[in-house]
Amino acid sequence: MSDCLFCKIVAGKIPSTKVYEDEDILAFNDINPARPVHVLVIPKKHITSLATATAEDTLVLGKILAKANEIAVAQGSPDGFRVIINTGRVGQQEVPHLHAHIVGGPDPVGPMLKRI
Ligand code: 5GP
Ligand code: ZN
Repeated sequence: MSDCLFCKIVAGKIPSTKVYEDEDILAFNDINPARPVHVLVIPKKHITSLATATAEDTLVLGKILAKANEIAVAQGSPDGFRVIINTGRVGQQEVPHLHAHIVGGPDPVGPMLKRI
């Protein structure tokens, strides 16, 4: 996907602060952090969202979650964190390349959602 922002980050055409990388996934700091630790973890392969992921993506999706604690601890969230995957219009996903937000830090991140 040549016009995808996060594909351009994977390709190195747009700079990012990488915190973890392997053959399948890339993790980098969010440009506008909501908490002291705010990392985006993405598949290197373009997957638009959880709404378009298929069974073929099972391994890479598992890898994103399996690496989350290691990334969080290394970035300064040693005692837990929150994973958020905004999906589609209702999930208010802004960047249409699947990404898991890992948010944390030394202190609790706050309530999950404001209730209606
Ligand atoms: P979404 O709302 O799609 O779940 O989250 C998109 C996230 O991408 C936002 O938290 C936003 O700050 C982050 N973001 C948008 N553009 C860039 C960029 O060019 N570089 C980095 N590192 N993060 C970005
Ligand atoms: Zn992409």
